[in-house]
Amino acid sequence: MTTSIATGNLFILAAPSGAGKSSLIRALLARHTEESMQVSVSCTTRAPRPGEIDGVHYHFLTESQFKEKIDNNDFYEWAHVFGNYYGTSRSYIEHTLAQGIDVFLDIDWQGARQVREAHPQAQSIFIVPPSLEVLEQRLRSRGQDSDEVIRSRMEKAQAEMSHYHEFDYLLVNDKFEQTLAQLEHIVFAQRLKVALQQVRHAAKLKDLLANDG
Ligand code: 5GP
Repeated sequence: MTTSIATGNLFILAAPSGAGKSSLIRALLARHTEESMQVSVSCTTRAPRPGEIDGVHYHFLTESQFKEKIDNNDFYEWAHVFGNYYGTSRSYIEHTLAQGIDVFLDIDWQGARQVREAHPQAQSIFIVPPSLEVLEQRLRSRGQDSDEVIRSRMEKAQAEMSHYHEFDYLLVNDKFEQTLAQLEHIVFAQRLKVALQQVRHAAKLKDLLANDG
């Protein structure tokens, strides 16, 4: 007999822009059901990029709407990242974890620090590109950005990467499929931790440890 797990696992995923984080999350979610794994949709004050949909990629808010949410303690964590506000909905996280669903947070290093404090069991994963050359190539292939914009993105990427050592896991995203498998291994390993397994298999463990005599 199995017992349902009271809480899902919380995974923090951080990376510089261009490391492949969004594609990895998308590919991982495509392999699993919504009842087992979800990604949190953050709130932000930055303008939508072409193709981004409100409620899917982000909840796009004005600065005053965002600040009202800060005042109402609606955020599990929030941060000011490169000129815009970003935050994770507290009610979504609490509700989803309580259903036993694993949640991924795609957040920056400042948010990761706050989540670690609030939820020490959270597993944090940092993803880096294989080299600066590959990172630059990936950033350039995204659009028609000027050299100056690319340079500024590279600087931001290096600032983000300087925090890699604060995380539990480090993935080098050289070969996409391999990195995806590594990410999935982390999720599977976490689900097998004794603290969770002893809830899931409480009855079985009771039987296994029953005294015959
Ligand atoms: P972008 O504007 O490129 O989508 O995201 C910029 C940075 O903000 C990325 O590092 C991303 O992970 C981070 N970010 C996105 N959502 C959140 C959030 O809810 N909280 C925090 N702290 N950072 C976030």
